[in-house]
Amino acid sequence: MGQSEHTRETVNLERLQKENDRLRKLLHSSGIDALTTLWNKVTLFGSIFETASSHPEERYVFVRWDVNNFHLINEIYGTQEGDRVLKQLAHQFDAMERQEGRALYWGYMGNDSFAACYLRKDFDAARFQGLIGSAFAEIEAKYNFTISIGMCEFAGREADNSIADKSLMALRSILNTSQNSYAWYDDSFRERAREAQELTGEMMAALRGGDFVPFFQPQYTCYANERKELCGAEALIRWQHPTKGLISPGIFLPLFEKNGFIWDIDWFVWESTVRYIRQWLDQGYHVPRISVNISRADVFHTDLVQNLLSLAGGYGVSPEYLGFEITASAYSEMDRLREVTDGLREAGFRVVMDDFGDTSASLDLLRDVPVDQIKIDMRFIRGDEDRARTIVKNIVATIREIGSEVIAEGVETKEVADFLRYIGCRNEQGYYFARPMPEEDFEKLLISQ
Ligand code: C2E
Ligand code: MG
Ligand code: MG
Repeated sequence: MGQSEHTRETVNLERLQKENDRLRKLLHSSGIDALTTLWNKVTLFGSIFETASSHPEERYVFVRWDVNNFHLINEIYGTQEGDRVLKQLAHQFDAMERQEGRALYWGYMGNDSFAACYLRKDFDAARFQGLIGSAFAEIEAKYNFTISIGMCEFAGREADNSIADKSLMALRSILNTSQNSYAWYDDSFRERAREAQELTGEMMAALRGGDFVPFFQPQYTCYANERKELCGAEALIRWQHPTKGLISPGIFLPLFEKNGFIWDIDWFVWESTVRYIRQWLDQGYHVPRISVNISRADVFHTDLVQNLLSLAGGYGVSPEYLGFEITASAYSEMDRLREVTDGLREAGFRVVMDDFGDTSASLDLLRDVPVDQIKIDMRFIRGDEDRARTIVKNIVATIREIGSEVIAEGVETKEVADFLRYIGCRNEQGYYFARPMPEEDFEKLLISQ
């Protein structure tokens, strides 16, 4: 190729790019987003505000939906493919709203986020989720993503930019992103969001400063005539906050699972537990097996099993002293979990399937995933006493028959404790026996054994 031809080609390309830019700007100024060809945010909000101000007494719903973890699509398939996915979503969304014919306006908010505005009386959240679910079923399955939907209701006279923040807050309040879900905004959100931000700002200093501590909840093997024997304990994290007091993990763990700090916290609990086991052994106590929890997010750490082996090895603690609890519902979501479970067991650790019975897939799990111990939570089994008892009895029998150990947690009364023993579930954990306690108290318990 001659120099001149090469130059000509470059010039053409440049011209083309310029032309593209010009078109994009033109589209933008006309209120259309170039990638998705939906209305852009400016147009969308302009139209909503206009309608709202001319009908100020009417009530409206602003609904926005995001693709969960869209960045993974970009990372795995490349941004070009990511753009194609967005275009497809936009196309389906557009077709869905046109066919449905109920929305006032809809458009593209940018990134992986779309929105629509309805009259309150024309909107039904479950229906919207259903429509989204069927419109995107194919593409969701292909790229393995889910969608979160956040909504806020407002009167025409209140319409302002805050509807974008409110719907986003509602959307972000959805913690379980393993399936399509929706959430409504209410005024408590602002307070909760503020609190979450405060805790996030404090968490690292708190860990360094020793404000996080593992508590230990004893587990007992029960025999007739009230005789019981300490057979284990579960380590449960607590945040001893200097001004807020003891904060329970239900408040901060979902936050840490989102911001990634969960790994630091879990590693801290594992390391503290191994260190305590070492101390207790050195003092000559009979040390039962201690279970620690593994979060879903931890499972993606490569070398997890190897790291845990080194941790235990570093303190000269044999792996059989440690059990790892993984919540049953995580198994159906992740193939990798199977690998980690097998790896842990091969390394000599015990694996406990936590919160068994919480998901409908529990029976499949029994068949497919070998673990050492299965933990049934008595709090799952509410409602009709007789039915609940029949169910527990049969679950216990099945678990024992397939050769796994069974334990019940959340045992709060003597009556439940006795019933469990009677049907052959002798390992029990719960407030009836003991609450989670600080290490000093648990050590006293070890001494008294
Ligand atoms: P989990 O692993 O199922 O732990 C059992 C929870 O039930 C604990 O709540 C415990 O205090 C509570 N509990 C025990 N006996 C009873 C009872 O008789 N009645 C009632 N109502 N509750 C009882 P906690 O400590 O608030 O922990 C909640 C969840 O947070 C745990 O559920 C676990 O999933 C998670 N978690 C706690 N510590 C850690 C940790 O260090 N790492 C990770 N990844 N998760 C943790
Ligand atoms: Mg647990
Ligand atoms: Mg549990």
